Amino acid sequence: MSERPVIVGNWKMHLTPAETTAYIERFLPLIGSAAASRDVVLAPPSTSLHAAAAALAGSGVQLAAQNSHWEEEGPYTGEVSPRMLEEIGCRYVIIGHSERRGLFGETDRRVNQKVRAVLRSGMTPIVCVGEQSSDKAAGRTREVVDAQLTLSLANIRLEEDERLVVAYEPVWAIGTGQNASPGDAVEVHNFIRNELAASYGRERADRTEILYGGSVSAANAAEFLSARGIDGVLVGGASLDPETFSAICRAA
Ligand code: PEP
Repeated sequence: MSERPVIVGNWKMHLTPAETTAYIERFLPLIGSAAASRDVVLAPPSTSLHAAAAALAGSGVQLAAQNSHWEEEGPYTGEVSPRMLEEIGCRYVIIGHSERRGLFGETDRRVNQKVRAVLRSGMTPIVCVGEQSSDKAAGRTREVVDAQLTLSLANIRLEEDERLVVAYEPVWAIGTGQNASPGDAVEVHNFIRNELAASYGRERADRTEILYGGSVSAANAAEFLSARGIDGVLVGGASLDPETFSAICRAA
């Protein structure tokens, strides 16, 4: 379990380049030195990555992309490759977010290809898994999370210098204001860590950061961030306001 919390703000399809620059100008003074002891990560839309990289230079706040193609280049109209993201300054890429799975038909097989591509480019994938409300009601949370994790990481041998982050995001909690209880999240995190240990060994599982995501707010962040086994948070809506997101970062 990581000593250094990871706090990721997923802006989804919000904030133009000019709005991104204005956000970061407000955000950096608000977090002050907090980025030195935490991994604070912003994930703007692709068109705002360049502006974000410029505004964040030297701040210690890292940049993530929200998605990536699995090839380096080629005839894939409208797509962006890991090499392009790495060159623009991304250190992380969110892969398999439930909105990509649900709205854009992203399968576990595609997630697996993308995770490989991101690792090959020297960046860190943030692999999202999580159950639907019907799965939860049917008591199938572990089964669903296990299948997503196993297929997403199939045949991926993590090299010593490669880093993996997993985000447990129950789909019913995303953007609903209805978060999982920290106790329930811890149970799933422990389950995920044990599954990772079975594939990669205990030492590697212990240093894989497992984040919770789903309606994290300034009011509940501290509870998640202080729970044993929760190494950080992936924040959607509440990351769009610099005051709120800086409060969440400072809560870690
Ligand atoms: C997300 O998009 O990953 C997310 C967790 O969203 P929200 O915080 O708005 O629920």
